[in-house]
Amino acid sequence: LQSQHLDAPKIPKVYWEDIGGLEKLKRELLKTIEFPIKYPHLFKNSTLKRSGILLYGPPGCGKTLVAKAVSTELNVSFLSVKGPELLNMYIGQSEENVRKVFESARASSPCIVFLDELDALAPRRGAAGDSGGASDRVVSQLLAEIDGVASGEDADSSSLVFIMGATNRPDLLEQSLLRPGRLDKLVYVAPYSGIGEKTSVLKALCRSHNVRPDVQLASVAAALPERCSGADLLRVVSTARAAAVRALLRDLHNGLIKESELSTDSVIIGVPELTEGVETFRPSIT
Ligand code: ATP
Repeated sequence: LQSQHLDAPKIPKVYWEDIGGLEKLKRELLKTIEFPIKYPHLFKNSTLKRSGILLYGPPGCGKTLVAKAVSTELNVSFLSVKGPELLNMYIGQSEENVRKVFESARASSPCIVFLDELDALAPRRGAAGDSGGASDRVVSQLLAEIDGVASGEDADSSSLVFIMGATNRPDLLEQSLLRPGRLDKLVYVAPYSGIGEKTSVLKALCRSHNVRPDVQLASVAAALPERCSGADLLRVVSTARAAAVRALLRDLHNGLIKESELSTDSVIIGVPELTEGVETFRPSIT
């Protein structure tokens, strides 16, 4: 009987410059996690519980990204698991997987446990698709682990575990997860809307590419639908980059550049490439 393979927690390398916008969300997350790390004694054996956070909202809007950036910034390790990955058809194995996640987090503390697609792991009891007993036991195990973390009994600076859940469907979640002391801080992570916000995300996504100086990312943002996910904006930039690679290979084919001059630095994204990104845009959210 195989248990779920778990990646070891590690400190991510997502820096704030890689993220456009989301300042308010960042401040909110930092505030919740920074204080218990800096002042663990204030949270020890007290009724002051450490809150868990539930990030909810449409897919691809930055929940995972910002959680990772907060880990990087606070130098806290990060353990990300997707709800469905922990589920196992064998009796008892899913609960064991949940237990192992928290054991691994405690061994690498301070650590943020990021439970993505949480609705799959802890569906509202009696919800459609809930097969009954097995998932009740998984939910109970999860609640016990969360309560253990929140109690702060083990709260010294080297044994802190923080829980962040993420879901696109908070309505499907087992509601007792949201009680005080559990994931009691609910934060909506919205799609990016307006030219300013979309431009900041496009800027962040273009940081790792060569972009021609005449490119106006605000015009690109203006040509896109009012509301976009980060994943949508990433696709615009990826499409533009692929077009830039094709343009470079065309120049090579036509003898305009030499093979020895080909490098990632010679891939330059210009207006025509971004226009292709905009024209082939398919929104993932409405
Ligand atoms: P899901 O609900 O599907 O898990 P999510 O909300 O966790 O989605 P992320 O994985 O954080 O979404 O974002 C998807 C991708 O979109 C990121 O890997 C990143 O490339 C891009 N992205 C999202 N938000 C931003 C942002 N604010 N700045 C730069 N890139 C972003």
